[in-house]
Amino acid sequence: MKTDPQLASLLLERLDGSKAQVQADLIVGCDGAFSAVRKQFLRRTRFNYSQTYIPHGYMELTMPPDNGEFAMKPNYLHIWPRNTFMMIALPNLNKTFTCTLFMPFEDFEKITTGDKVIEFFQNYFPDAIPLIGDDTLKRDYFRLPAQAMVSVKCSPYHIDDKCVLMGDAAHAVVPFYGQGMNAGFEDCIVFDEILDQFNEDFCAVLPEFSRVRVPDDHAIADLAMYNYVEMRAHVNSKWFLFRKHVDNLLHLIMPKTIIPLYTMVTFSRTRYHKAVERWHWQEKVINRGLVLGAAVAACGGVYLLVKNPPNISKLVIRTEEIWSMLSALPE
Ligand SMILES: Cc1cc2nc3c(=O)[nH]c(=O)nc-3n(C[C@H](O)[C@H](O)[C@H](O)COP(=O)(O)OP(=O)(O)OC[C@H]3O[C@@H](n4cnc5c(N)ncnc54)[C@H](O)[C@@H]3O)c2cc1C
Repeated sequence: MKTDPQLASLLLERLDGSKAQVQADLIVGCDGAFSAVRKQFLRRTRFNYSQTYIPHGYMELTMPPDNGEFAMKPNYLHIWPRNTFMMIALPNLNKTFTCTLFMPFEDFEKITTGDKVIEFFQNYFPDAIPLIGDDTLKRDYFRLPAQAMVSVKCSPYHIDDKCVLMGDAAHAVVPFYGQGMNAGFEDCIVFDEILDQFNEDFCAVLPEFSRVRVPDDHAIADLAMYNYVEMRAHVNSKWFLFRKHVDNLLHLIMPKTIIPLYTMVTFSRTRYHKAVERWHWQEKVINRGLVLGAAVAACGGVYLLVKNPPNISKLVIRTEEIWSMLSALPE
């Protein structure tokens, strides 16, 4: 297929090899991360474009139902975080789970035989082996090579009043926030709202769509990259888990003031870049609150000690007793 976005003309090639030249009022380029329409934008000046391949690839494995039921609890995102790699599992309507293994390409390449697959799973995901099954695991691992993941940012999304990019064509993101498809759907909603706002005048609608949508799509691309680290490494940290509990507790007490980032991004129409701004503000306030709380607790402790000083002579005697007990121990 060839496009001339400036003229809104398309040369289409049908499955039987025949070709058709089509003249459109508007071309909507929603042809995915490797968009042919977007390629035509690259020939123009003042079109910004960047793409980043992450060092990890992904491979999908199927966990079958167990006696006709889900093999694990279905209403959860299951994560096996292993710092430099991870596996996640999401439920499907047919009671299977799709397990996705994210790992650096060089680690995928080290596993060359069925026995090495089982050995790898025994080391890192032993509980998943009986749920997926030895034979399925050995077979599915070699069904397809690990796939690459790319993050694409570009701007603007339009050319004149003739062509506009949407979905992965405009903003392919790494899949760690579960928002790639959602961001594409939101492109459609926002475009529809702007169409109404400007009485379907493409001359005004297309630049406005780029103006409104680019900062949000860039924000979700950055958040997805951030989650790439959070899911495989941060979730192992006690401080991270403590902070999540604090966030959830504060959200329970003040649901309109403190809203966890994931809630804002996933369950609301808060614009992605606004969600990020608010998240930074909340982080600052909560961290300062925790430091202040710790300082107040420390001062309170010191005050109580000063007000009710412990009997030093008793402490000294106790220490001396412990010391003589320790000295009496055989070497
Ligand atoms: C492992 C993984 C997990 C994901 N998980 C989630 C998730 O949990 N939640 C979520 O929201 N998103 C998720 N995503 C992202 C989601 O899959 C994509 O964001 C979404 O599919 C993009 O939709 P799209 O229509 O823009 O592009 P695509 O789905 O890529 O569709 C593009 C279409 O254009 C067609 N096309 C391409 N080139 C041409 C051409 N030259 N001529 C004619 N047709 C063409 C293609 O055949 C295809 O049908 C995930 C992605 C991956 C890789």
